[in-house]
Amino acid sequence: MKIRVEIAELVLLVILCVTSAVAQTCSDADLLVRNGRIVTMDEAKRVAGSMVVRDGRILALGEGDALAGCASSRTQLLDLQGRTVLPGLIDVHTHAIEWVKSILRGEIDTGYPAVHSISEITHAVAHRAATVPQGQWIVGSGWDDSKLAERRYIIRQDLDTASTGHPVYLKHVSGHMGVANSAALKLANITKDTADPQGGVIERDASGEPTGILKDTAMGLIAGILPGDPPDIDVRAAQLVSEKAAEVGLTTIHDIFLSPDEMGGYQEAHRRGWLKVRVQMSPKIGSVADAEKLAQMGVHTGFGDDVLKFGAAKMFADGGMGARTVAIYPPGVIGEPGNLGVLRWTPADMQKAHLLAARAGWQLETHAIGDRAIDEVLDSYAVVIKQLGLKDARFRIVHAGISTPAVQKRMRELNVVIDGNPPFVYWIGCWFQKYGPERVRWSYPAKSYIENGIIEAAGSDVAVTPISPWWGIWAAVVRRDLQSGQILAPEERISVEQALTLYTRNGAYAGFEEDRKGVLDPGKLADFIVVDRDVLTVPAEELKDVKVMQTFVGGRSVYDGLSAGHVQ
Ligand SMILES: [Zn+2]
Repeated sequence: MKIRVEIAELVLLVILCVTSAVAQTCSDADLLVRNGRIVTMDEAKRVAGSMVVRDGRILALGEGDALAGCASSRTQLLDLQGRTVLPGLIDVHTHAIEWVKSILRGEIDTGYPAVHSISEITHAVAHRAATVPQGQWIVGSGWDDSKLAERRYIIRQDLDTASTGHPVYLKHVSGHMGVANSAALKLANITKDTADPQGGVIERDASGEPTGILKDTAMGLIAGILPGDPPDIDVRAAQLVSEKAAEVGLTTIHDIFLSPDEMGGYQEAHRRGWLKVRVQMSPKIGSVADAEKLAQMGVHTGFGDDVLKFGAAKMFADGGMGARTVAIYPPGVIGEPGNLGVLRWTPADMQKAHLLAARAGWQLETHAIGDRAIDEVLDSYAVVIKQLGLKDARFRIVHAGISTPAVQKRMRELNVVIDGNPPFVYWIGCWFQKYGPERVRWSYPAKSYIENGIIEAAGSDVAVTPISPWWGIWAAVVRRDLQSGQILAPEERISVEQALTLYTRNGAYAGFEEDRKGVLDPGKLADFIVVDRDVLTVPAEELKDVKVMQTFVGGRSVYDGLSAGHVQ
């Protein structure tokens, strides 16, 4: 008898606990989102009608009025009127602060579609020269020879026609080269006798004279003598970065290869409450000494909070396709059979730097575009993973532009994560062609990664392509090259849902954040966006035109296109 009473009491207690748990988890919400099409991007492909948020996190998802009881008199209501909601998008590879600083510095925009020919560029430089005192630097960025009418590199003689009295330096859109005029070369002491630095090229004409083109590490010869920035530029840039990201629906960005000043800028912007989106900062490792310094800091990947934290440590293995410096196996670049690209590190030094950083707790991410560079990185990663006994390293290959079946097999074995770049096929697909059809077939192969069980996240590499992730989502689905209009490696096209996965779930995974973002599930951070059309059913061509109407980070509105007047 006694026992039966106890069991009855226990049952009652359990019932009470369950009821109060439900009431507790869903009451007094901060925000109730209803009447929408909430695409959760979870494994079960759930689409819900309403969602409630409290304390920055999702409390529950439901249908119809099922969640009405979660609201109180203070709950903010958002009626979506049938509109589509997606998880906030994640860009795992940006140079966002560097891009925004070039805007704040007033650098001349020499990129497509602002200019279309070398003569327009020299005109813009001459125009600037007329307003700037002699001897003062004139800097521009964004030029892309493949989109200029002349279809060739700009050289110093072109720039000399605009000014001989000002040092002029124009950075290529790839970030892997620049062109200097004669005055700038003179200031940098670059002559026909200057040797190429390791991992760099000082391009020369038939008589051995520098053409003005400086590739990869040779760019450092000019970068080191450019005028300094105002002291507050980094904090202002960090604020502007977060505004620009929120506007296009990004709620997390990884900013890559940061200098100490840039990381300081982000920290100060965070302290002032200026960061609208979440940022993972990736410090740069340019030498073994850099890796030593980073390792000695004691803190490592993951340090920080949900707004600002350290991501992976970044290195470069090779160059860029635009500069024709990616490290490949023979045959060489079309028209330059001897050109197999550059490797920035000796294998021994790369290994040393990788080991130092990984042992100190840093996730590694290494830029490698050519298959020869990818192999060098994988060789090094394999040793580090084995030596340190790492079980879940998630080491990343950045770009992995020429991803042949042979390197994909190794990627799978080592469980590396790919920081892919879906928008490259459209914006710079013409650069792939210089590497021949066999390599075009394996360029940025998103479908193969899925079939081979390799996890790919996505990045714009802004300023290489625009910051809006919608270019990448669209390009992943259609794979059309801007220049030729051709579909490049049509076998590698993926569905819009798969493309969205790169920018949500997989982005969260690449940053060790799948426990808190990437899908809309109870307990996850309330990072979500409202878009102007149903992206899962619109014709593929429309994907690049998607407009973000509202962006929420931690349940707080950080961008409202309706009140900003950007979206009709
Ligand atoms: Zn990059």
